[in-house]
Amino acid sequence: MTLSVGVIGTGMIGRDHIRRLTQVLSGVKIVAATDIDRGRAEAAVPDGAEVFDTPRALIQSDKVQAIVICSWGPAHEEQLLACIAAGKPVFCEKPMVTSEAAALRVIEAEIASGRRLVQVGFMRRFDADYRRLKAVINGGTLGAPLMYHSVHRNASVPAGLYTSEMPLNDTLVHDADISRWLLSDEITGVEVRLPRRSRQNEELRDPHLVLLHMGSGAIVDVEISVNIAYGYDIRGEVSCELGVAALPNRPATVISDAHGIRQAIPEDWRERFIEAYDQEFREWIAAAAAGTATGPSAWDGYAATLTADAALRAVASGGLERISMIEKPRLYEIPAVLAAEQFGAPFTRAGS
Ligand code: NAP
Repeated sequence: MTLSVGVIGTGMIGRDHIRRLTQVLSGVKIVAATDIDRGRAEAAVPDGAEVFDTPRALIQSDKVQAIVICSWGPAHEEQLLACIAAGKPVFCEKPMVTSEAAALRVIEAEIASGRRLVQVGFMRRFDADYRRLKAVINGGTLGAPLMYHSVHRNASVPAGLYTSEMPLNDTLVHDADISRWLLSDEITGVEVRLPRRSRQNEELRDPHLVLLHMGSGAIVDVEISVNIAYGYDIRGEVSCELGVAALPNRPATVISDAHGIRQAIPEDWRERFIEAYDQEFREWIAAAAAGTATGPSAWDGYAATLTADAALRAVASGGLERISMIEKPRLYEIPAVLAAEQFGAPFTRAGS
């Protein structure tokens, strides 16, 4: 079966996903697209695909079996709710939504629909290095995780896109999600510290040091930078009771010349996570073709939104901001069961 997909938002990542869905992956066909700028959508789609005037018309079209949302965050809620109302599987780029109330509305609608339809674009969970790291932690040979050090550095951000909230709303969500996933834990509190301003751009508050307090008592520190200048640099190291497990450096050609011995650094997320995005969509296509979703869920989108909100409060208060989640609905136990099949059950410490 070939899955007929419509894409909402044909900007930077929308076009990259269209390339992957048309040129890299099989079992899928782009049949429709829409964008605020109709010309941008027309230029992005393959021959024969229909360009719709509105997301709603695309979602309701009989031609479209599943939807990929790549519009900007504040538009996601309305588009997600329309996909759920139409009973169609939907892949939604992060952030799933931009407020706790919106996340709860998505969760309620999905529960009312009776099955999982939403996958959120947390692509790190599909990266082979993160998957090996999770398998080591779950394997338990290093004991319980105590700390996770996450480094998330972006070279720069286009001036028009930067707001003081952007690193916490748009960027931290990846680290929040991967911390919960790697440690099989929930975030219960957030603190944020800011160093002196960088002369790279004195208007920005960047970088941020974020501390995530996990339910088990483990602590995560995250260095978030959207202005590091030298490239896209993602690192991760988990300190456990009996040892440390870290993401490896990405294999890259070693260049020796008059400047020394060095390896290239990825320019941006498209390069660093290219295989992860491919795998993310491979698994999404398989689930969507079966009429459901199995990857990062609306629950994970909700958790990331709460973390971003708490981080913003923590900047203002300078203290620890607590997170309280609703009880996890049964519908969202499915990804945990699948993860245990793939990576082994989460390691639990006797007596804890
Ligand atoms: P972008 O280049 O600005 O593209 C977004 C596109 O969607 C633009 O063409 C925009 O039109 C259009 N759009 C916005 N609201 C719309 C609506 N209501 N209906 C139809 N089209 C709409 O942004 P991007 O970098 O591609 O990011 C898109 C989303 O992906 C964001 O949520 C972002 O956080 C996420 N993202 C995820 C990753 C990842 O690693 N997973 C990486 C990058 C981006 P206008 O420009 O006219 O507003």
